[in-house]
Amino acid sequence: MTKSPTYRTIAVLDQRPGALPVPLGAAGSASGDGQTRDTLGRPLRDLRISVTDRCNFRCSYCMPKEVFDKDYAYLPHSALLSFEEITRIARQFVAHGVQKIRLTGGEPLLRKNLELLIAQLAALRTLEGEPLDITLTTNGSLLARKAQALKAAGLQRVTVSLDGLDDAVFKKMNDVDFPVADVLAGIAAAQAAGLGPIKVNMVVKRGTNDHEIVPMARHFQGTGVVLRFIEYMDVGATNGWRMDEVLPSSEVIARLHAELPLVALEASAPGETAQRWGYANAQGVYDPRLGEVGVISSVTQAFCADCNRARLSTEGQLYLCLFASQGYDLRSLVRTGAETADDTALAAAIGNIWHGRTDRYSLLRAALPPEAQGTGARRVEMSYIGG
Ligand code: SAM
Ligand code: SF4
Ligand code: SF4
Repeated sequence: MTKSPTYRTIAVLDQRPGALPVPLGAAGSASGDGQTRDTLGRPLRDLRISVTDRCNFRCSYCMPKEVFDKDYAYLPHSALLSFEEITRIARQFVAHGVQKIRLTGGEPLLRKNLELLIAQLAALRTLEGEPLDITLTTNGSLLARKAQALKAAGLQRVTVSLDGLDDAVFKKMNDVDFPVADVLAGIAAAQAAGLGPIKVNMVVKRGTNDHEIVPMARHFQGTGVVLRFIEYMDVGATNGWRMDEVLPSSEVIARLHAELPLVALEASAPGETAQRWGYANAQGVYDPRLGEVGVISSVTQAFCADCNRARLSTEGQLYLCLFASQGYDLRSLVRTGAETADDTALAAAIGNIWHGRTDRYSLLRAALPPEAQGTGARRVEMSYIGG
């Protein structure tokens, strides 16, 4: 018989959004057999874990300097999940069918001894007994130094963010004067360490870096690096997002195709966020030696219908959508004290939360008139829940 979940509200730090009540107790969906589905029938396959809310860049679309200044209240170390807590929570996500874990932030390579966490996560096995697909998204600034150690710890791949090849453009976008050459050195070190195939994410802002689309494609074509163009999104509440600064992916592809002919490729996995395009040879046929590019059209072509991603914030709140305003406080379930629950309760809570998931922000945004897009409830910052 299915028992109804019981609820309790858990307090969080006051500068963060309030936590939602964690649904405790067994529920039909909380069996931990990989069959957990949300209200739209979506499975749970991908967990993104933010390991720090701090960053050494101040990308204007993510952590604008005016907000994330020296007075900004970052989380104290005691609020962060420890590596053991992260692994304990991740294990229960794996029991619900998660096969892929992405470490993110803030800048994940700023978290001390991250290799130790990677080694713990690499020891987990999927329900089919396979190793997890463990990857990491980084701004690349510390990658040249850390690539070897990350690989040795069990990291399989990295995604590096780079918004242009022109130093002036890139420095303006990261807003801390960080040079392109050092990110390229990080990418080269990651390739040498075997952290491939490497993906490079470029956020495209119309009027800021859209003239870098073709030069970036030319630079990475044939190198084994998969370049992906991301539509500038209305995440968080601080980046001053405007629809007219979004360059639709269809336009990115049209601009590329005019210079470097492309052919559409099949998605490589269900729930994949990027649409894939391969470079064509003189006969107009995809040539794998030239490689591929991807576009992530989070604004103009919502992919919520297949969204199988959950996000664990730096302080252990579970978010069901990149655009959510509130998360569920799982940290309180793994910390010692009177209210500590065991792993069965943690597993049940995760199952219950996913079972009740209705999130589909991008689909709903697409149905709004242009002037209403990007408005509405205050969304959590991307540097806090990770991209
Ligand atoms: N610091 C790391 C980095 O930049 O790769 C990881 C965290 S960052 C929040 C993860 C990804 O989110 C990056 O690829 C970044 O470019 C992307 N991102 C951040 N803000 C965005 C926005 N407003 N629209 C689209 N992508 C964004
Ligand atoms: Fe830092 Fe990444 Fe956000 Fe840029 S996108 S500010 S590098 S967390
Ligand atoms: Fe998933 Fe939310 Fe993005 Fe839709 S808007 S694809 S539900 S993260």
